[in-house]
Amino acid sequence: MRNVVIIGSGPAGLTAAVYAARANLSPLLIEGWQAGGQLTTTTEVENYPGFSKGIMGPELMKEMRAQAERFGTAFQTGDATAVDLQTRPFKVIVDDEKTLSTRTLIIATGASPITLGLPNEKRLWGHGVSSCATCDGFFFKDKELAVVGGGDSAMEEATFLTKFATKVSVIHRRDKLRASKIMQDRAMKNEKITFVWNSMVEDVLGQDVVTGVRIRNVVTGKVWDLSCAGLFLAIGHRPNTALFTGQLKMNELGYLLTSHGTATSIPGVFAAGDVQDVRYRQAVTAAGTGCMAAIDAERFLEASGHG
Ligand code: NAP
Repeated sequence: MRNVVIIGSGPAGLTAAVYAARANLSPLLIEGWQAGGQLTTTTEVENYPGFSKGIMGPELMKEMRAQAERFGTAFQTGDATAVDLQTRPFKVIVDDEKTLSTRTLIIATGASPITLGLPNEKRLWGHGVSSCATCDGFFFKDKELAVVGGGDSAMEEATFLTKFATKVSVIHRRDKLRASKIMQDRAMKNEKITFVWNSMVEDVLGQDVVTGVRIRNVVTGKVWDLSCAGLFLAIGHRPNTALFTGQLKMNELGYLLTSHGTATSIPGVFAAGDVQDVRYRQAVTAAGTGCMAAIDAERFLEASGHG
């Protein structure tokens, strides 16, 4: 029987582990088969406080894991494949075989950017292909960039990227944007932003870094290459919440609903990081809510006589 089980090994899960371990709660963290979360697929992180010279994403995650381990966090490699939150203690099944019992559960399973599945997208990810303008925009000073998508994220990312880029082309598959009027207007008024309508990206070009994108006009069928130094995907994120469907309250996009800090709809189950955050999605905000979840779990255990 565990006091705290944490699912997820990104900044939210590992920060929750540091705090829970230092509160002597002996947490167990299920870290998945691909540990470390989204930061392991980025290159340099320059906006995580405490690193004046920046730090590589994978290195930052290695440090966070070592910090959690130092205070006694136990790690379980494998994926949480089922949970039962209807009975207490809660049950978490790992890789369809091992069952863990726990008094509290911290969910930090994150969200995954939706990708296009282009032939060279994965290879150039972190080398010009990105899904986070806030994280990577700074690397593209005086360069030309492309953004895919027609929603609020695409408008926000494109507008943000004009702080650095000389030109930002928004490539959208239709001739109408999905974005809210105010975000559309802001992007349309920006002289650095141009729109490539009715168009799909067929592939991203470049050997070691992005040099352009191949675009197909879905109306005329014309295929052409647009030269750019970066491709930002803004076609949405998918919260990793399939495991909790029917058990925890979610919003219409599938993000876990939290209140009073990190409490979910079941007392004793807490959520931290991108799995409950459609708005900020930053490593530092994920870490912040991870800290909150551990403190919330500690207080819940105390109140139920297990502190
Ligand atoms: P979204 O609203 O789902 O928009 C996704 C966009 O990507 C759509 O324009 C869609 O095209 C396009 N798209 C989807 N799959 C595609 C594909 N395979 N190939 C090409 N294009 C594709 O996602 P979002 O912009 O990330 O926004 C998610 C939610 O967060 C929304 O509720 C939004 O309002 C909110 N949000 C708010 C703010 C803000 O208020 N500051 C900022 C960001 C996000 P179609 O239009 O043709 O479907």
